[in-house]
Amino acid sequence: MSNTVSEKPDPHDFLGIDTLLSGEETLLRDTVRRYVDKEISPNIAEWWDEGRIPHRELAADFGELGMLGMHLEGYGCAGTTATQYGLACLELEAGDSGIRSFVSVQGSLVMFPIWRFGSEEQKQTWLPRMAKGEVIGCFGLTEADSGSDPASMRTRARQDGSDWVINGSKMWITNGSIADVAIVWAHTDQGVRGFIVPTDTPGFSAPEIKMKASLRASVTSELILENVRVPDDFVLPEVASMRGPLSCLNEARFGIAFGAMGAARSCYESALAYAKDREQFGSPIGSFQLTQRKLVEMMVAVQRGTLLALHLGRRKDEEKLSPEQVSFGKFDNVRNALDVARTARSILGANGITLEYPVFRHMANLETVYTYEGTHEIHTLVMGQAITGFPAFN
Ligand SMILES: Cc1cc2nc3c(=O)[nH]c(=O)nc-3n(C[C@H](O)[C@H](O)[C@H](O)COP(=O)(O)OP(=O)(O)OC[C@H]3O[C@@H](n4cnc5c(N)ncnc54)[C@H](O)[C@@H]3O)c2cc1C
Repeated sequence: MSNTVSEKPDPHDFLGIDTLLSGEETLLRDTVRRYVDKEISPNIAEWWDEGRIPHRELAADFGELGMLGMHLEGYGCAGTTATQYGLACLELEAGDSGIRSFVSVQGSLVMFPIWRFGSEEQKQTWLPRMAKGEVIGCFGLTEADSGSDPASMRTRARQDGSDWVINGSKMWITNGSIADVAIVWAHTDQGVRGFIVPTDTPGFSAPEIKMKASLRASVTSELILENVRVPDDFVLPEVASMRGPLSCLNEARFGIAFGAMGAARSCYESALAYAKDREQFGSPIGSFQLTQRKLVEMMVAVQRGTLLALHLGRRKDEEKLSPEQVSFGKFDNVRNALDVARTARSILGANGITLEYPVFRHMANLETVYTYEGTHEIHTLVMGQAITGFPAFN
């Protein structure tokens, strides 16, 4: 008896990956997908073009959908699995990497450190309001001269009685100018510490970085801290080393391994539809061998990357996922998503350079995704060290 089936694979789920999802996972995935189709996709080209997003409305919507800090337990957070969080990132990034960034920063980079390293009072104060989207956060680690090597940061905090005084500046901070609160990482005499800084604290300012050609549906800012004074109970008490910020980045990178495949899927689907419809030389361009090769390469990359992300999600839910394995996911899925986006752009011809189609926007966004949360090269070195035992960072 044959153990294969004659049914043709679904061009949008060639390997039948959907069957690997539980009922709850499918439900959540479909809910986020519907939201993106209804609220994000019809508007995103305009937001991207204008370089703005309706951040308060989006935050409230994401709060209502339970997507902010969704994989955290308690304090008004949804307490989903890591895989469910990943699937939400994938669907959001099928909309736009900037929209996924908004949710990643809030959940993985701001709520997570408070949840993981904060005092009970800090958790009660911030997390429920952040989960509802009433309070927007940002994460300040990178500086103009400290990117891949964040330990070289120059921002410093010194104790003054029962207060701390912070001086320095941060660069490339997502949500900086629209945030109500910033997690600021600074050197202190006790090591690197995280400070919860309300953005209306005197001495704090966050000018927006303009003229971006990538991630335009996301606010990116500089943070300037001039004698910013916060009380001792605004310091995250449970960490005093680079482990603090790095563990947050690990959470966000996990979401990116999924998210990148959302952007890639959107590009593939757009190119597939276009190739079936667009005719040249009297035939649909999808009937040409060269185009079919491109479509197949894209489809295979999306399916393979989605399987990889799912595998990482399952490992994370079993508490077996190492940071090096997260690097694997970020490294491989983002570079493949970029390849898919570039290939899709070529299929769309001249239409591929407009914002009428999602492809160029995804392609430009993915240049940021390739760089932030650890550049492609840094993840190469992380895995290089894991397999050789030799650190090659300097
Ligand atoms: C749109 C956007 C949003 C961002 N949001 C945030 C945020 O919310 N919070 C935050 O803290 N940061 C944020 N970042 C900053 C981001 O994390 C950094 O840009 C990233 O870490 C890289 O730092 P860099 O840009 O200074 O590049 P550099 O570190 O200067 O790197 C430049 C090049 O050199 C390579 N390189 C560096 N060191 C090595 C090495 N040892 N070996 C080989 N190659 C190396 C890099 O891979 C890269 O190709 C954001 C960036 C962007 C673009």
